[in-house]
Amino acid sequence: MTDLSHSDTHATISHSSGPSADLIDVIVVGGGLAGLVAAATAARSGRRVVVLDPHRLGGRARVDDRKGFRFNRGPRALYLGGAGRPILDSLGVDTRAGASPAVPQSQGRHQGELRLLPQGPGSLMRTPLLRPAEKVRVGLLLTKFPKLDTKALAGTSFGAFLAEQHLGPTAADLVRMLARVATYAAEPDAADAGAVVGNMQLALAEGVRYLDGGFQAIVDGLQAAAAKAGVEFRAVAATSVQPGGSAPPVVHTAQGPISAASVVLATGTPAAAANLLGAPILGAELLTAPVTAACLELGLRRSPRYPVVFGIGEPLYLSTHCPPAKLAPPGHAVVHVMRNHAADEPLEHHEQRAWLWAAAQQAGVTEDDVVEQRFLAEMVVTGGMPTAVGGGLPGRPAVSSPERPGILLAGDWVGAVGLLADAAVASGAVAGQHAAALAATMATT
Ligand SMILES: Cc1cc2nc3c(=O)[nH]c(=O)nc-3n(C[C@H](O)[C@H](O)[C@H](O)COP(=O)(O)OP(=O)(O)OC[C@H]3O[C@@H](n4cnc5c(N)ncnc54)[C@H](O)[C@@H]3O)c2cc1C
Repeated sequence: MTDLSHSDTHATISHSSGPSADLIDVIVVGGGLAGLVAAATAARSGRRVVVLDPHRLGGRARVDDRKGFRFNRGPRALYLGGAGRPILDSLGVDTRAGASPAVPQSQGRHQGELRLLPQGPGSLMRTPLLRPAEKVRVGLLLTKFPKLDTKALAGTSFGAFLAEQHLGPTAADLVRMLARVATYAAEPDAADAGAVVGNMQLALAEGVRYLDGGFQAIVDGLQAAAAKAGVEFRAVAATSVQPGGSAPPVVHTAQGPISAASVVLATGTPAAAANLLGAPILGAELLTAPVTAACLELGLRRSPRYPVVFGIGEPLYLSTHCPPAKLAPPGHAVVHVMRNHAADEPLEHHEQRAWLWAAAQQAGVTEDDVVEQRFLAEMVVTGGMPTAVGGGLPGRPAVSSPERPGILLAGDWVGAVGLLADAAVASGAVAGQHAAALAATMATT
């Protein structure tokens, strides 16, 4: 199943397309986090905004209720020090309910064996994963990590950065594991070091929060903020988009064309935006391919013996999100197991599912524990990671560009700020501001 393939529609969405002569200021194509932030931001500047999305709002951030278990389409954690949180706060989205992951008993899986995962100086010294000299080198690197200048690292690959640390193979895999957990990229070496280290700094400093109710709490908050500001939602897909120029841009839908002063494309991936425009997005060719992962979501009668297991030298993520967050009936647990895909993922879908289930069993989950489960074979974690050759975060496709007048982009592959949901929210806010400004200019000319 892919993240954009669901056909469920949101019950409260209007089905009218409206006449093309509607006086719409801003059309937002896509009602995921990026689109909802853009819509709420533009509408709060007094603009008339319409969001088009044929699916239930929230995109990849939406949550499904299965027998009382809240499944977030794979694991979701909010970066407490990330760019997204202050923007969500400013829109009145409350992200306080939830809790940090349970880390003290975390395990690293190395060559098939579970070992104590270093969490700090004490566990680093105790873990049998590393030799004493490797422990010293990893300890020194982690000590200088908070002070690393991520801007200066832009343009260097994470692989080159890691090689310069001379850590030794297992220690390098341990640091790679931290990078993978902080970015969800199976191959962080291929990405820009500034971007990867930046997210590792966020993970190691302020940390993350598993939200009560999952990312649906963000989706609901954004939807409420957008609706309060007067945003209209239409359950229809855009089929193509014509940039502006001498005339305003036009969005074509199955229900007819709609024009507006500006259009925000927040459709999830560079390919989806390029398809609608019928032209490639400048700068997208310098991103990695979309990063994907296979996810096994487990609703359990009890927490597993080992609530957290991360692979060292293999792309395994296993974390118990409930407890600590509220995502299940009382006394029950939700565990997310994920396999981050390499560019040449060797396993078939059914093999990946078996691999994920075997990892869950190794963490202590039994058949009897499982009340509900869901397997998602090919989730798009991000539309593309910034690369060194692309100049890192500043080199990602810009929200606005002269080669597409009236068209703004938003998503987790757009703009110079953040990764994952932070990037979606940050670029959404910038797109909303630009869109409102364009509409204001049109209104006065
Ligand atoms: C397994 C997994 C784990 C993740 N974990 C984290 C995490 O821990 N922390 C974090 O910060 N982020 C995480 N993310 C990333 C985060 O979920 C995304 O970055 C974010 O949700 C992307 O939002 P978006 O609005 O850019 O895109 P999407 O959510 O993909 O939204 C795009 C929307 O556009 C709509 N659309 C597409 N085409 C059209 C069209 N032609 N017309 C109209 N509508 C259209 C789609 O229906 C969809 O609703 C994770 C993602 C995955 C998959």
